[in-house]
Formats: sequence, structure tokens, C-alpha cells
Amino acid sequence: MVIVMAADANTQQVTAVVDLVTSTGGRAFVSRGLNRTIIGLVGDVDLFDSLSLASLPGVAEVMRISAPYKLVSREHHPERSTVRVGGVSIGPDSVTLIAGPCAVETPTQTLEAALMAQQAGATLLRGGAYKPRTSPYAFQGLGVEGLRILADVREKTGLPIVTEVVEAADVPTVASYADMLQIGTRNVQNFPLLQAVGDAGLPVMLKRGMSSTIEEWLMAAEYIAQRGNLEIVLCERGIRTFETATRNTLDVSAVPVVQRLSHLPVIVDPSHSGGRRDLVVPLTRAAVAAGADGVIVDVHPHPETALCDGPQALIGEDLSRLAEAVTVMASATGRPVNGAPALIG
Ligand code: PEP
Ligand code: MN
Repeated sequence: MVIVMAADANTQQVTAVVDLVTSTGGRAFVSRGLNRTIIGLVGDVDLFDSLSLASLPGVAEVMRISAPYKLVSREHHPERSTVRVGGVSIGPDSVTLIAGPCAVETPTQTLEAALMAQQAGATLLRGGAYKPRTSPYAFQGLGVEGLRILADVREKTGLPIVTEVVEAADVPTVASYADMLQIGTRNVQNFPLLQAVGDAGLPVMLKRGMSSTIEEWLMAAEYIAQRGNLEIVLCERGIRTFETATRNTLDVSAVPVVQRLSHLPVIVDPSHSGGRRDLVVPLTRAAVAAGADGVIVDVHPHPETALCDGPQALIGEDLSRLAEAVTVMASATGRPVNGAPALIG
């Protein structure tokens, strides 16, 4: 059961709810968000029903939710949500393209990649300054220097930044540069990190764990939501299967399945799922056709020398093919592409 307090509820009113619940043997978890306080109740739901919690001062709503994830479930919020990132909307009314380099390497490489992203119609720039690599010998990212480069490129191009944070202690620093915080596949069950980004006051893109079930993924989102941050975009990025022809298997079915279970926007990463340049455009078509609210794509001016994920980065003519795939499939599913018209040709 979830209690949503009114926006103007005061501390005494929150405490009164908690005291009443705990006096009956239940447990109450208070999440103070930027805009509202939410209290999650654990215990005997029938007993809670008998307490007439909805009539207590300061209580806006009391909800009985059967899914194990509450705040991100569509039971809690039947309307599909739109998340705003630096003025760009990600949600059901449009298709949003996010693009950029896998990793920030140099100012020139990042600016060139951002211009490529813009050329393809992207309205948000991706780029990792902190890279969680499978090998400890692989390029780990430029850290704060990479964040500064991203901020400079945002200044030059106007593209808001989506960038990954891998450690709870780094959240304040990354949040001071980013417009959206990315949680990568390897950190989907790093619960302290999820809580820290939940507290950061910025929208979050939560990738699916490569071995996460949909329920586990939504429970991870719930950790962020429980801190009062519902500005979450879910990103399907491929899962581990027996297949070795692709790096991961893009679970296209996750898009409509998750959109039915959760009100949060769902986007797809066709670059990290396939791991191959030649698959990015076909997988983009599949993602948008399945109803994805956006795609996030790797581009790089010189993939042959990229420090991370060069084989999947789009180049040259790929950009107009990407733009066309997004535009055509968005139109086929009755939605506009977010932002400026992309170059097709
Ligand atoms: C990324 O998008 O840079 C990334 C590392 O992706 P994933 O977490 O999906 O592997
Ligand atoms: Mn990558």
C-alpha cells in the first residue's frame, strides 16, 4: 500500500501517519521527494484499510497496489508518463533520439560526435565520462575532465547531456554537469547507487540489467522512485541469451510488456544490444515499430580508433539511414520525432 501526501503536508502530518501504521504492527517507509512525500506501507493490508488513512490530515491518496513495484506501476499511475530532460520530452507523444559517443575521449571527438548526433536528428547527447568496463585494463573514462568536455559541447550545440554515473559517491559531481543520469546495465542492482540517483533531483535513465527479468528491472526503478524521484526512463539494451552472433539479444517484446506494467517511458539502445554497426538501423526500426519512446545510439567520428565500442558506432551515411529509420517508423506508429527535422537523404 502506498500513501501519497499532499504537496503542502507538514512533518507532523507525516509523523501521524507513520505512528498510526507502526502502532498496529505495520512498517512505514517515508520517501521525501522534491515535490511530494510518499509513504510505503508494509504489513497487513486489511488492517491498514480499517485505519481510514485517507481521512487523515495531509493525506492526498491511499493506493492498494498488487504489483511488487508500486510507484512505477501503471496501477499507481494509469497515464503513461513523460520525462523532461533539459527541455526535451521523452514520453508517449513522440519518439526521441539520443545519440553521441560511447565514451568522451577528447573535446574534438566529442564535439564532432555531437554534431553527427544533431545531423541525425538527436535532441539529447549521450557520452560516458565514467565507463564501467568489463576489463580493468580497458579505458575507464576521463572522469571529471570528461564531464567538463560534455558541458562545453552542450554550450556549443545546445544538446542536453545524458551521462553515466557508476558510484554513489560520484553522484553529486556527475549531477552538477549532467541533465540526465544514466545507470548502466552492470549497476542495475547497485541499490545504494540507485538510491543516490533517486536523491539527486535529476531525471534518470535506467538500463535493463543484461540478466535482469523485467520484474527485477522495475524493482530497480522502484528504488529510485522510492526516494521521491519519478523522472525515470527505462532503457532496454539487450539481454544475455545462448546466442553468440550478437553481443546481447535485443528483447523487443520488453517494450510493450513494460509499457503495460509501468507508466515510465521506455527507450531502446540498439547499439549496445547488437554490438554491431550493421544492426543498429534495423534494430532501431524494430524498436520504434514496437512502440519505444526513443532510441539511444552510439556515433563516433573515427570508430576505428575509438577507445570504447567502435564496432557499433555509426558513421557517415549511417546517420541519414538512422534519421530515416526513426522518422519513417515514428510516422508509421502515428508519432512525431522529437525536435528539429532530421536530415534524410
Ligand atoms: C553505455 O551506454 O555506455 C553502456 C555502457 O551501456 P550498457 O550499460 O548498456 O552496457
Ligand atoms: Mn559502450
